[in-house]
Amino acid sequence: MKLVLFSCFIYSFFIHAQSQYPQDYFSSPLEIPIALSGTFAELRSNHFHSGLDIKTQQRVGLKILAAAEGYVSRIKVSFFGYGKALYVTHPNGYTTVYAHLQKFAPAIEAYVKKRQYSKESYQLELFPQPEDLVISKGELVAYSGNSGGSLAPHLHFEIRDNQERPLNPMLFGFDVKDTTPPFVSAVYAYPIGEDAHVNHATTKQRLRLIPSQYGDYTTEKINAYGKIGIAIATNDRQDHAPNKNGVYNIQTFLNGTKSYELDFKQFSFDETRHINRLIDYKHYKEKKQYLQKLFNDTNPLSIIKPYSNDGYISIKDSTSYVYKIKINDFKNNPSWITLDINGIRNDSLEPPTIPVTPYFIASNQTTELREGSVSVNIYKNTFYDDVYLDFEVQGDTLMLHDDIIPLKKNMTLSFDISHYPAPIRDKLYIANLVGRKKYPVYTSTKREGQVLTARTKKLGAYTIAMDTLSPTIQPRNFKDKQWLSNYRFLKIRINDSESGISNYRATVNGKWILMEYDYKTKTLTHDFSDGIVSETKNNLKLIVTDNVGNSSTFETLFYRK
Ligand SMILES: [Zn+2]
Repeated sequence: MKLVLFSCFIYSFFIHAQSQYPQDYFSSPLEIPIALSGTFAELRSNHFHSGLDIKTQQRVGLKILAAAEGYVSRIKVSFFGYGKALYVTHPNGYTTVYAHLQKFAPAIEAYVKKRQYSKESYQLELFPQPEDLVISKGELVAYSGNSGGSLAPHLHFEIRDNQERPLNPMLFGFDVKDTTPPFVSAVYAYPIGEDAHVNHATTKQRLRLIPSQYGDYTTEKINAYGKIGIAIATNDRQDHAPNKNGVYNIQTFLNGTKSYELDFKQFSFDETRHINRLIDYKHYKEKKQYLQKLFNDTNPLSIIKPYSNDGYISIKDSTSYVYKIKINDFKNNPSWITLDINGIRNDSLEPPTIPVTPYFIASNQTTELREGSVSVNIYKNTFYDDVYLDFEVQGDTLMLHDDIIPLKKNMTLSFDISHYPAPIRDKLYIANLVGRKKYPVYTSTKREGQVLTARTKKLGAYTIAMDTLSPTIQPRNFKDKQWLSNYRFLKIRINDSESGISNYRATVNGKWILMEYDYKTKTLTHDFSDGIVSETKNNLKLIVTDNVGNSSTFETLFYRK
């Protein structure tokens, strides 16, 4: 009886907690069981994931059904990011988003293509009127795909509130079986205070994790003193997919009292970049592991719940502490980590030295660094803390620290190129030198007279690079003067190995034709069912331009009847 009462209590609490989110309003956008390759707010490069990634059985072309009635409020088609994306706004104020689509349902597809042909552009963004494309619940709205930045076929599905803030779609009652608690791959302790230390060291320490038979964890006993903080690497997986996804909630308890909470229910896009402050950014850059800090070093993220000590632990000499971390997935499977901390003061340790350079950046001031032909403008509040940067210019190469400190805002890099001969100035761009091999990667570059500028939130090495090579163009599924009567698609491979493809324009007998661009396969595709190619003899002309303005023209003949 007692057990039954307790269950009822838990049940009613759960229903109450969810009740602000309608439970039966949204249905699944797919006809297959939901298996996830990504969860809401899971940690990604420079952002929190803003929806669910629903697996599509390694296939494209699955029917996407509207999760509820409403109208198409936005359509965006882009080379990168979401690829083809559809936004449906519902009468209750929420908007559902469907991204990386292969194509839209026929009526929407026709609406989009009409505008692509009148704008003569594959990429576009539309905001239809509420009466233009009215949608009923469960209506076919699109087919799943792999477009834009997607690396494997899946549906990216979001639910946003009326202020464009993404919410965890799981709050709306989607059924995803999950019987396994989150797993923990690392725990670190950070000495924070000036006199703080952990295991007789003043630098961050990895703690040995000891799994228990019930799936929980302890760590080796810790000796520490002063103000310290803890960070963990953790993931969750659901029942029907092996993917390592994000967790739902993390709480900490110091001697039984709750001391910190990360709650991944909702965030706004303008705060998503603060993920780089939530994680140990340097650790991520060096080890490719997301360590989430369980202490708040001035991070404005709304998923961090306010607690009086901001999650820090103050360890006194000769005192014992029990610090517990509880990690939950959405189905409330908890994993606990227990840390026994022994307060032992050690005065013989040297405090860690902060490398001092001549380039001090006060975070609340604007700073300009300048040497030779290069200048760097750092606006106030670009950094979270005051920092000493490494800054060196060798010829046209700028070394601006390593990419181990997160930035809140863009800096502006300026390179004077007046010492280059005039004819090649047009071919220059700013490149970020990436990786050990310092591979040059095009950075969006503006040209103002004899100065190139780029805006970036990434420290590291930058240089002036030159692109004199025009893009390459090769037909992929046909030859010159071929009959293509039974062909549905015309496919052409385009590539630019230096600054990269900027745009392209294809015409048949002088008329613009829509060609969809997939940057991952470097392929342009025209669909003959657009009905534009109607003559027997066809002259195809394609002009492809790279990011510094080199262009190539390709012309061929094909026949159809
Ligand atoms: Zn996604």
